Amino acid sequence: MDQQLIERIVGEVMDQLQKQEPKLSNNEIPIAVSARHVHLKPEHIEVLFGKGYELTKRSDLSQPGQFAANETVVIAGPRGSIEKVRILGPARSLSQVEVSWTDAMKLGVKPPLRESGNIARSAGITLIGPKGSLYLDEGLIVAQSHIHMEPKDADRLGVRDGDFVTIDVEGIRPISFNQVKIRVSERYRLEMHIDTDEANAGFITQGTIGKLRKPGVERSNDVVATHNEVQVPPEKKAFYFKKKLLSNEDIRAIQEDEIVVDKGTIVTALAKDTAREIGKVISIK
Ligand SMILES: [Zn+2]
Repeated sequence: MDQQLIERIVGEVMDQLQKQEPKLSNNEIPIAVSARHVHLKPEHIEVLFGKGYELTKRSDLSQPGQFAANETVVIAGPRGSIEKVRILGPARSLSQVEVSWTDAMKLGVKPPLRESGNIARSAGITLIGPKGSLYLDEGLIVAQSHIHMEPKDADRLGVRDGDFVTIDVEGIRPISFNQVKIRVSERYRLEMHIDTDEANAGFITQGTIGKLRKPGVERSNDVVATHNEVQVPPEKKAFYFKKKLLSNEDIRAIQEDEIVVDKGTIVTALAKDTAREIGKVISIK
């Protein structure tokens, strides 16, 4: 088969696979856990791995075009070092190291919590490769949790690039993440990124589903209720109305969902409208 034909077949198979992705309902967000990693600019790849060196792909990451490289480095701080820290490709314009706060304590450094790419006046760190080492004045951060998504997901979820939301995660140790930044781009795929400390705090593993909640919205009962084996619907007792006239005010004052009236009771038109509006049933005995 010629190369073009193969590429067309591969392209079509990929399209089919993408169409078969599980449909996420309304506010569900898949979560990916980012382990400590390094992004490097081309000059730094050469310092660490030798002149003209280019990263080699180990595996694709979920965000299109991003990959985990075969190459790793040692990162070192004043108190300790961590070996085999994975490099993520492709090469970037700025070198950046993302660690958890637990890692930072081991290294003896205090990196700020930042959005990836925002490294001005962040912490310093030493990188050691097989062919050389270098010290980054800045570039060490703890990554702020964020959600990647395409514009169509942003529309569906009612959020915009730069918004902050809350993500609730159920499980044996339920947890909510606040101040999670929304990042929208055609290049992204819907996914929340957290670090290993955040994942461990909620016993979260790769592919766990969180639920998006916009600021100011209370945590809904259905989220909390998933802990119960059986969901018990609230009791709906009837209220027996004894007076001769059932007014709009009466409807609003009565807590029960069903209001039972005598045959001769007058129900005002406004009372009927209000009952319909707030979901109460008026029945005649
Ligand atoms: Zn990310």
